[in-house]
Amino acid sequence: MATADLDPDLSARLFQSAVHAQSLAHAPYSRFPVGAALLGEHGQVFTGCNVENASFGLTICAERAALFAAVAQGVRRFRAVFIAAPTKGPVAPCGACRQVLAEFAPELVVYSRGQSGEVARWRLDELLPHAMGAADLELGGESAAASDES
Ligand SMILES: [Zn+2]
Repeated sequence: MATADLDPDLSARLFQSAVHAQSLAHAPYSRFPVGAALLGEHGQVFTGCNVENASFGLTICAERAALFAAVAQGVRRFRAVFIAAPTKGPVAPCGACRQVLAEFAPELVVYSRGQSGEVARWRLDELLPHAMGAADLELGGESAAASDES
């Protein structure tokens, strides 16, 4: 499921959601607004935008904002994330977001589009090979993400 291309109409709608989220970003310091739309396994869509803070280290990226919104609503399995960035071409998620997304969806499909309209598509495990996970913490082997499915 995770490796199949999505329906073009669905992809277009998800990029539209990401662009709308991008318009809501709070990025007065970087002036680098980003939006993300995360597709849950049953078609649910969760959006996020980057939210910066004058204390820069407290800033959160769009991808993590979308993921945390989904988890807060009980959704922990995802098919794809769509990213809209102000760059000319597509941009991949930052390292922190790759790690956080991998906690729940190591095979997530990542779509990204910049201002040129060019779309990039990666699998998360291509962007973050050998990710650290719950099993590395020797918590008994079962993934913490999978231990209390909703
Ligand atoms: Zn990030």
